[in-house]
Amino acid sequence: MTSNSSYIALYSSVIPVRGFSRSILMDLYKGKFLFIPNYLCDFLIENKSKNLQKADFLDLGNSIEDFDEITSLLDELLLQDYLIETELEVIELLKVEIPDKTEDALIDDCIMELSDYSNWDVSHFLAEINHIGVKFLEIRFLDVASFTNQIGIIQSALQDHSIEFLHCIVPFYDGIQRIITEELLDFARLNQLTIYNATSEFEIENAPFLIDFSNQESISSSNCGCIDPTYFSFNVPSYYQNKKYNNCLSHKLSVDQFGEIKNCPSKKNSFGKTGEINLEQTIHLDEFKKEWRITKESVLICSDCEFRWMCSDCRVFIQDESNSLSKPSKCGYNPYINKWINEAGYVTELECGVSIIDNQLSIDHEKLNQINANLWT
Ligand code: SF4
Ligand code: SF4
Repeated sequence: MTSNSSYIALYSSVIPVRGFSRSILMDLYKGKFLFIPNYLCDFLIENKSKNLQKADFLDLGNSIEDFDEITSLLDELLLQDYLIETELEVIELLKVEIPDKTEDALIDDCIMELSDYSNWDVSHFLAEINHIGVKFLEIRFLDVASFTNQIGIIQSALQDHSIEFLHCIVPFYDGIQRIITEELLDFARLNQLTIYNATSEFEIENAPFLIDFSNQESISSSNCGCIDPTYFSFNVPSYYQNKKYNNCLSHKLSVDQFGEIKNCPSKKNSFGKTGEINLEQTIHLDEFKKEWRITKESVLICSDCEFRWMCSDCRVFIQDESNSLSKPSKCGYNPYINKWINEAGYVTELECGVSIIDNQLSIDHEKLNQINANLWT
């Protein structure tokens, strides 16, 4: 219903995110998003505090075609509940921002990598992370032997522990279904079990944890860091957390298969071996926290990408190892032409006139405009 007394506004949970060539509305409550043109995103951001009516939106256009486009865009956004059209009193209530409730614990997440080479004291390390108050633990078993040899030790070490969520990633092998049924069903700490390199799948009735399967052959540290739209996710806490901190490395510690304490198992830099260093002192080192504040807004190219607040980051596999702010190298998206690597018309950023010179982005607008005109008109 449109009348002179109705106003149009974004729901308070909807965040406009401007990209270089197109923008996105992210609904943090519903976890869904919709593409919008940049001119509309700019208008919504610039007029965030104003009371807008349909006529104000139509003023963005110069022709009948523009008015038609804006009208159908508004209809779509209203229909899909990104915008609301209502009385002024209700609009005023919507201007209350969602509070940022993220808390800053020093270490929340831990990745523990285990293989047959892991001859260090797993129980000692688990006791140390309990002392620190780690809440989320991911255990990556790189081979069957580490899983069968260590899972019992891990089970007893976690009986009384700070961990709130445990995710174990194990390789598929012939006896895995039997081990789960006979030894893991009473493992109260376990929340998720991912079986990789899975050649077949099975169900376990009444399993108290989630069991999922992946056909990924290996979870070695060189396989990490892939950016894929199927991994995109967001909600209120993750949005605010990602605006402040690096969404992979912040508040995280890892121990690799050889017992080396690192920011993540794929990092070259080790802070020393578990059992030989003081873990509590290590996590307070500035060097340990130095990448925690690298957000997507500070990463070159990602800062121009409309997906930056729903995408994960990687600070190990990056395009230019000499530049800590360069884009993840395992990302196949070019935000300047809005194409993924597997889509027709994809070219790299460099090929479309975007380069990094002296750590600054340089854009050949003429070349880029020509490529976009060829792709999209
Ligand atoms: S920084 Fe990269 S390699 Fe390390 S855990 Fe994150 S995604 Fe994986
Ligand atoms: S460019 Fe790639 S890595 Fe960067 S924000 Fe976009 S999708 Fe994510």
